[in-house]
Amino acid sequence: MAIRQLLASSAALALGAVMASAAMAQSTEQAPLSPRGQSIHDAAAALVKSNNTERLDVLKAQLEAAGVPYTLHAFEGGNRQTGPMSGNNIVITLGEGEKDIVLLAHYDAAVLRDGAFSHGVVDNAGGTLAVIAAAKALPVSTMKHRVVVVLTDQEELGLIGARKWLEQADKSRIAAAVNVDVAAYGTTVMFGLNNGPASAGLVRTLRTHCADTNTDCVAFPVYPPSEDRVFTAAGLPVLSLGIQNPIGARQMWLAFNGGQDNGLREGFVPDVFQNIHTHEDKMDKLKADDVAAFADFVTQLVVKIDNGQH
Ligand SMILES: [Zn+2]
Repeated sequence: MAIRQLLASSAALALGAVMASAAMAQSTEQAPLSPRGQSIHDAAAALVKSNNTERLDVLKAQLEAAGVPYTLHAFEGGNRQTGPMSGNNIVITLGEGEKDIVLLAHYDAAVLRDGAFSHGVVDNAGGTLAVIAAAKALPVSTMKHRVVVVLTDQEELGLIGARKWLEQADKSRIAAAVNVDVAAYGTTVMFGLNNGPASAGLVRTLRTHCADTNTDCVAFPVYPPSEDRVFTAAGLPVLSLGIQNPIGARQMWLAFNGGQDNGLREGFVPDVFQNIHTHEDKMDKLKADDVAAFADFVTQLVVKIDNGQH
C-alpha cells in the first residue's frame, strides 16, 4: 500500500515535471506585452546605462516626457570605498494633505566586484518603474494624504539616498512609507515583518490587501535589508515589498528564515540572488506585465493606507 502510494505519487511527480517543462516551453514563447507592460519594458531597457548619472538623466527624461513634475534632492554621499560622492534623489510630490505617504525605490545600480556596472534591471529598474506606474495611477485628488515619491540614489552604497532624504524631511508628516526593491518578475509579493512595532498596522493593511486581491503574499520574519531600514531606525511605519515567482519566494524565505535545516541543498542560492549584483541582472529577467500588475497592487495598497488610521 505504502509502496503503491509512493509509486503513484512519483508518477504524479513525473507527470508534474512533464507539465512544468511544457509550461516552461510555452512561457519562453514571447507573448505580446500589454501596452502598459510594453512601456515599462522600454523604460527599463533605456535605464541600462554605464553609470548612475546616466540612469538619473534617463529617468528625468522619462518623467518629463510623461508630464510628471519632480524636484531633485542633491546630497553629499559616498562611502569608505568611493570616498565623498554627490548624489541625487528624484522627488515627486502628488496631491495634498497634512500627512504624507512616502513611496520609495532606489534607481541606482550596483558596481560589480569586477568593476563593471550592473544593468540593474531586477535591482532595481523594475521596482523604480513599478513605483512610478503605481504613483501615476493614484487618485490623488480624492486622497487624504499627500504622496511623496522618492526615487533614491546610492542605495547600493549603503542606503545613503534614503538616509539623506529622511534627514532633511519633516518626519512628523510621515504617516507611512512603502519601499519597493527587487520587482521585475513574478506574481508573488514578498514583504518583511522586521520593520518594528510602528509598522504593525501597515502589515495588517497589507495582509488585508493580499486577501482582498487574492494575491500570493509571503511574509518574511527576516527580509533582506533595503531602504526601509532607514525608516525603521527612525521609528516610522514602513513596508518593504518585492516580487518573485512563487517558488523563488519560498526558496528565499527558507534561505533567510529556515535556519540550518532549511531543506535547501548545500550551497543552494535562490534564483534572485544568482542574478542581482551580477552580470545576469539584465533585461531577459524582466517580465514587464508582472511589474504592471504589481504596480496596480501598490496603487490599491496606497489607497487602502490612505483610508486607514495611519
Ligand atoms: Zn536593490
